[in-house]
Amino acid sequence: MARLVLKFGGTSVANLDRIRASALHVKREVEAGHDVAVVVSAMSGKTNELVGWCREASPLHDAREYDAVVASGEQVTAGLMAIVLQSMGITARSWQGWQVPILTSDQHGSARVLGIDGAELIRRFDERKEVAVIAGFQGIHAESGRITTLGRGGSDTSAVVIAAALKADRCDIYTDVDGVYTTDPRVVAKARRMDRVAFEEMLEMASLGAKVLQVRSVEAAMVHRIKVFVRSSFDDPAAPASGTLICAEEDIMEQQIVTGIAFSRDEAQITLRGVSDHPGVAAAIFGPLADAAINVDMIIQVVSDDTTTTDMTFTVPTADYERARLIIEGARAAIGFGSLQGANDVVKVSAIGIGMRSHAGVAARAFKALADKGINIRAITTSEIKFSVLIDAAYTELAVRTLHTLYGLDRA
Ligand code: ASP
Ligand code: MG
Repeated sequence: MARLVLKFGGTSVANLDRIRASALHVKREVEAGHDVAVVVSAMSGKTNELVGWCREASPLHDAREYDAVVASGEQVTAGLMAIVLQSMGITARSWQGWQVPILTSDQHGSARVLGIDGAELIRRFDERKEVAVIAGFQGIHAESGRITTLGRGGSDTSAVVIAAALKADRCDIYTDVDGVYTTDPRVVAKARRMDRVAFEEMLEMASLGAKVLQVRSVEAAMVHRIKVFVRSSFDDPAAPASGTLICAEEDIMEQQIVTGIAFSRDEAQITLRGVSDHPGVAAAIFGPLADAAINVDMIIQVVSDDTTTTDMTFTVPTADYERARLIIEGARAAIGFGSLQGANDVVKVSAIGIGMRSHAGVAARAFKALADKGINIRAITTSEIKFSVLIDAAYTELAVRTLHTLYGLDRA
């Protein structure tokens, strides 16, 4: 007998039929003898609607009231799931964040979980095999007693931290895809579902744009060492297919060198030419961007040959591109540079794999393969378990496919 947390995302509870279908997965686990806590999202589209209402009510609304409104989507599905489970003869009770309680910070709209008291839920597992159906996404700030929410996509994080608090053996994330793929299957038809992926790799993939899981949930899983199983609620409940297990590196028998290829179109490049090369110039460029909360990603500084000027290239999110240009132009006197060039039609393609730690030349092979296809690399960054190249957006699919094949990821 194990203790499981089963999380159902928006499409898995989109309507009563979907809630019933998801409840059958819960039923299967209960009948197998497991302790089960269920975490639910709002019905798909519901949270967007609630956010829209807040904005319509007043563009500058009180963040505490925003949370009071948007947390309601999960309240509805938690109650409905409990009713449906009960109708199937399963003992079940719904819990809102404040009832558990799930204690959070007071950063309304993006609160962090500080602590969860799982004692009562565990007592009910032991005494009456009661399934706990918990509203995801929400918590309570203990001092003020106000409802908080954990940020968009936050019910993934709810599920993982609840799994940690309940000392669960596994956290199953039921969604509308059957796992995590080596890359986006819409771009590479030969993308494969991964059986296992290490926490660190999944964290990179989620940060680099794979949308299956909220980044924070992967961080939490890594910190608390919670095995997370991404799987489909659209499977036959009687004979569910497999999914992708996100786990510790040690639990992966055959580690590939590269496990996945990610790409992000949300990149824009800014290059400063003829930057006067003196101590403090990087601070003069990136300080004002940081002050404006613009996230700079790749940074490349060219070593100057005449020791008086250099070139500096960096990338920012597409949405911040114009703002970043204005800020840099505004700081021109303080920085001192010749010209500013920018490009919005760029994409960052990344290869991720823990195996890179122990294998040399992994990135070099990619540079060669991309060159053979005539793809020009604008910028490169590397870290311990990934490397990224910035290229023209027109080559996105060709580059992703090329790397996917190069590292042996294509489905046979
Ligand atoms: N319902 C929330 C959202 O749409 C939380 C979640 O589903 O994870 O962001
Ligand atoms: Mg989600």
